[in-house]
Amino acid sequence: MVDKDRVHMPTQPPDERKNNFKEVALGLTKEQAIEEAKRCLNCKNPPCVTGCPVGIDIPKFIQLIKDEKFIEAEEVIKEDNLLPAVCGRVCPQEDQCEKSCVLAKKGKPIAIGYLERFVADYGIKSNPQKEKAISYQLSAISSQQPKIAVIGSGPSGLTCASELRKLGYKVVIFEALHKPGGVLAYGIPSFRLPKDIVNYEIENLKKMGVRIKTNSIIGRLKTIDQLLKEGFSAVYIATGAGHPMFMHIPGEDLNYVYSANEFLTRVNLMEAYKFPETDTPVILGKKTAVIGGGNTAMDSARCALRMGVEKVYCVYRRTEREMPARIEEIQHAKEEGIEFIFLANPVKYIGDDENNVKGIELVRMRLGQPDESGRKSPIPIKESNFTLEIDSVIIAIGTDANPLIPDTTKDIKTNRWGYIITDSEGRTSKKGVYAGGDIVTGSATVIEAMGTGKRVAQVINEDLRNLDVR
Ligand SMILES: Cc1cc2nc3c(=O)[nH]c(=O)nc-3n(C[C@H](O)[C@H](O)[C@H](O)COP(=O)(O)OP(=O)(O)OC[C@H]3O[C@@H](n4cnc5c(N)ncnc54)[C@H](O)[C@@H]3O)c2cc1C
Ligand code: SF4
Repeated sequence: MVDKDRVHMPTQPPDERKNNFKEVALGLTKEQAIEEAKRCLNCKNPPCVTGCPVGIDIPKFIQLIKDEKFIEAEEVIKEDNLLPAVCGRVCPQEDQCEKSCVLAKKGKPIAIGYLERFVADYGIKSNPQKEKAISYQLSAISSQQPKIAVIGSGPSGLTCASELRKLGYKVVIFEALHKPGGVLAYGIPSFRLPKDIVNYEIENLKKMGVRIKTNSIIGRLKTIDQLLKEGFSAVYIATGAGHPMFMHIPGEDLNYVYSANEFLTRVNLMEAYKFPETDTPVILGKKTAVIGGGNTAMDSARCALRMGVEKVYCVYRRTEREMPARIEEIQHAKEEGIEFIFLANPVKYIGDDENNVKGIELVRMRLGQPDESGRKSPIPIKESNFTLEIDSVIIAIGTDANPLIPDTTKDIKTNRWGYIITDSEGRTSKKGVYAGGDIVTGSATVIEAMGTGKRVAQVINEDLRNLDVR
């Protein structure tokens, strides 16, 4: 359906979708996409492009949709974005390109994300062999080229690997987990990002000649120094920020208190929702509390619901206005029946005689002055504690850097939070070693991680050319 403002994304009805892991947003039809594209003013100095972290030529691809040239539209996006089917689904467009769209000033912005997803899906359905053809040409020209190690197969590592491969390098990705994709594989659930989309892009990368070695933890299997000694001319570290954070309050070690990382990995990567058909279970009980207000919290809450929990609470210490999660995800969570408890924070988890969590003691909060994040800081209200009965808890208050690589590579400098320090072009303090994505910026977005991966690939190429190792 198209109204005069903006196309609506069709979705599975809430009562149906809360019982399955199938994609919630169903995608636009060709007619809807064209109608929406027609609303675009094709601005001469388009602010939407400035709002896009990788500078996609948005008016150009939208014009091609108007002209019904969908494959060409996808090609325009792919010049700047390796994973349009992923970004069309998970990018926070409301804070980026769509926020900058001129139409947002007086009405509703163009649904740029929906259009991106439409052309990407159209490309996947109609032209699955395209990347294969490119791959054979690439393999032929590059067999004598230097090799580069990429550590981590999330969006940053995948993009850097793809760019380096296109520049003619041999590229090997080392991935700690048994499946590549990073957060796209283990974090974001299939009802937001179907795994066949991620797998399709990874298969394309393999067809281009990139080798992906899974079950390979760098820092354990071998160190970065060993990789350099073995003949890798450069190393790109894209290990993300997947180390779960805790509040360090009493009871966090009780049974059925999960970190969101563990919970989401069990559900998404190990497919616990298919247990016992799969090997990994996850036990939640009837009432679950998710602590946090970001995308990870929304994903955890909505996964818990789909795992059969009767009542899912989302406990957040600020108000809805300050929630970092995407607006669409908050809306979808509400429609599905997640109950939000705002302005409350856990003080301790309460256990039974068998060390199973049975409740949370929460304190009411009020908002004070803005803190360093720019959001109003939450302040506990004295003697306002109350108890919430639950059978399980998922802690989704954020993640930080895993110290393994800096600990095993002494000359890589990190900041006080453990993130790797780079210059503005992605070079670390160690020669030949580069870094990008969440391991440098802290938890950010898919498109930002991809953007750095792409830029650093160019820098690696220039540095190696200057060294004349090519
Ligand atoms: C649940 C969840 C939902 C999110 N939702 C969104 C969203 O809707 N939109 C959005 O834009 N962003 C979202 N984000 C953030 C986004 O996913 C990240 O910013 C992005 O994935 C960062 O990419 P990356 O490549 O830097 O790292 P990651 O995606 O974290 O990938 C890092 C990879 O490195 C591997 N690794 C780590 N250490 C080693 C090692 N020592 N050796 C080998 N491999 C290693 C890890 O196993 C992982 O596969 C979400 C994040 C989470 C956790
Ligand atoms: S700013 Fe909005 S209307 Fe203008 S070109 Fe971009 S998407 Fe189209």
